[in-house]
Amino acid sequence: MFDLILRNANLPDGREGFDIAIRDGRIAAVERGIKAEAGEVIDASGRLVSPPFCDPHFHMDATLSLGLPRMNVSGTLLEGIALWGELRPLLTKEALVERALRYCDLAVSQGLLFIRSHVDTSDPRLVTAEALLEVREKVAPYIDLQLVAFPQDGYFRAAEGEAALTRALDMGIEIVGGIPHFERTMEEGRRSVEALCRIAAERGLRVDMHCDETDDPLSRHIETLAAETIRFGLKGRVAGSHLTSMHSMDNYYVSKLIPLMAEAEIEVIANPLINIMLQGRHDTYPKRRGLTRVRELMAAGLNVSFGQDCTMDPWYSMGSADMLEVAHMGIHVGQLSGIEDKKRVYEAITVNSARAMGLEGYGLEVGCKADLVVLQAADVIEAVRLKPTRLVVLKGGKVVSRTPARISSLTLDGRPEVIDMGLDYLPPA
Ligand SMILES: [Zn+2]
Repeated sequence: MFDLILRNANLPDGREGFDIAIRDGRIAAVERGIKAEAGEVIDASGRLVSPPFCDPHFHMDATLSLGLPRMNVSGTLLEGIALWGELRPLLTKEALVERALRYCDLAVSQGLLFIRSHVDTSDPRLVTAEALLEVREKVAPYIDLQLVAFPQDGYFRAAEGEAALTRALDMGIEIVGGIPHFERTMEEGRRSVEALCRIAAERGLRVDMHCDETDDPLSRHIETLAAETIRFGLKGRVAGSHLTSMHSMDNYYVSKLIPLMAEAEIEVIANPLINIMLQGRHDTYPKRRGLTRVRELMAAGLNVSFGQDCTMDPWYSMGSADMLEVAHMGIHVGQLSGIEDKKRVYEAITVNSARAMGLEGYGLEVGCKADLVVLQAADVIEAVRLKPTRLVVLKGGKVVSRTPARISSLTLDGRPEVIDMGLDYLPPA
């Protein structure tokens, strides 16, 4: 007797027609034709059943603040930072909590159940940290929320940047952030990487820095981050987020840099939506794309994941908590159009990001947590093409969201009366 059985599921690795049985919040069996009773049976009808989406890079303190106190006119990263600086003194804990909870509702409906959010620690009031720590507690039954202490205005550059970041860690934020390319000078940026890695090593914490989010090919803080990771014994516990300057770097230099990053086991987190929107803004034509070198980093064995970064905030007016939208953009901007490329991109928003976040019990093996999503698509290739409806979302074996399938009724003479985008347009096998 099981609590729930998902029948006739296609799995992300391409296996078809499997049943997934759940007991006590865990996956108890993954087999064809399970002959057993269950409290509830859900028929996946030959659709993809996947572990949930994981967003390894987000800003939950800024989300859904679009238009407050005004819009970003130039659309640049720097105006976004200035605009956030205008909004920050006006922030209240109540409003931050309310916006974050509303965002998490949307995330659940999109099958997004694991989120790492940076939390701006530049305002020494730390109302952002207070609010997000409360949100982390409140959403724990349905979303695992990790928090990064993020000195948006610079660890050294902001008036009380160092003290405020330390206080945020003392309050219970569990990851050390940074923004070396925004410090006053390259040298200050280098020193910030060293200081922040030292803090992480002393406290036994992970590191996740906004690193080289610029088109300047000489912004090379990732090199320092890799070297300090090795020096402080932090291998496999340090993430470099964005790394957009790598797009513009000299190829010879990159041929030395990528092996160093691999040696340090750096977690690479690219943010395709934001990178294509914000990078290249100072170019005329041709305009650079700005996405880091995803294909080359994956080929070198680095764990590359994709984050969403923003939804409706000072930096990005779009977004919908949809990690398949992130994957879709990543495929385009990174020119990752091959079948194997697309499979790797699906991994970048699921298993790779779970690994970057250090999640345990994530996946479809027996014994893993019964966190699952049924999609209105047959396989991962179709999922990244269609960004389909998340029909059912399970957390710990319990249904936390249902969405009706998108089925269109047509009134065209001599044409089908109904089409299901998720199953009717499969390419020939
Ligand atoms: Zn970010």
